[in-house]
Amino acid sequence: MNDMTQVANYAFAPEPTPTIPVAGSDALFPVRRIYCVGRNFAEHAIEMGHDPDKEPPFFFQKNPDSIVPPGGDFPYPSESSDVHHEIELVVALKSGGVDIPVEAALDCVFGYGVGLDMTRRDLQAVAKKMGRPWEIAKSFEASAPCSAIHPVSEIGHPTEGGLRVAVNGETRQTGDLNQMIWKVPEMIAYLSRLFELKPGDVIFAGTPAGVGQVERGDLIEGSVDGVDSISVKVV
Ligand code: MN
Repeated sequence: MNDMTQVANYAFAPEPTPTIPVAGSDALFPVRRIYCVGRNFAEHAIEMGHDPDKEPPFFFQKNPDSIVPPGGDFPYPSESSDVHHEIELVVALKSGGVDIPVEAALDCVFGYGVGLDMTRRDLQAVAKKMGRPWEIAKSFEASAPCSAIHPVSEIGHPTEGGLRVAVNGETRQTGDLNQMIWKVPEMIAYLSRLFELKPGDVIFAGTPAGVGQVERGDLIEGSVDGVDSISVKVV
C-alpha cells in the first residue's frame, strides 16, 4: 500500500510538534501556543511590588517548545542566578475563535493540568526596569514543565481547590483557585479579543504568593487539588 499522505516539500525536516500526554489515554495534546496570565492573584501582585486594585492582570507568551512533559527534568537556564518557581493551573483548549463570549468560553476547554511558569527573575527585573519585553525572562528552554492534561469529561471545570508548591519538602506557595482575579472563562474571552484562539492553545492561569528561588539539585513538587501534581528535578 502506498502512503497517500501528501508530504510537504520542506527545505529541511521540521521540528516535531510539542505535546503533553492526555491522562487516562495514550493520546497526546498537541501544543500550538502558550499564553500566561500575570498577576492574577492579589497577594502575588503585592509581593512583586504592584497594587492589584490599580493594575489588572495581563498576558504574555511562552514558546510552545518550552513545555517539559511529565517526568522530565528542568535544566537550570543560562545567564541567570535567580530562577523562580510559579505553580499554576494549566487550561488546555480543544477549540477557539475570536470574540468568544464569557458564557461560551468553557466550551473551548479540552482539559486541565498543573504547570510551572519557571522564571529568570533577575532578567525579568531588568526588563521591567528598562521597559523591555519579557521573553528572556519567561520564554526560555524548558520554562514550562507540565503534568498530563486531564479531560473535562474526567474532572469537570475546577473553580476552587488548593494549589501549592514545595521545594525539597518545604512548602513555598499556597493559594486557592477561587482567589484568581480573572476566572478561566474571562481569560479565554479576553484573549480571544486580542488573538484568534485555536485548538492546542494552552493558558497558564497565574500563580499565588510565595514564589521563590530554586537551585540545581532541588526537587520541585506542586499540585492543584482536583487536577494533578507535578514533580520536577532542577538539574
Ligand atoms: Mn506566572
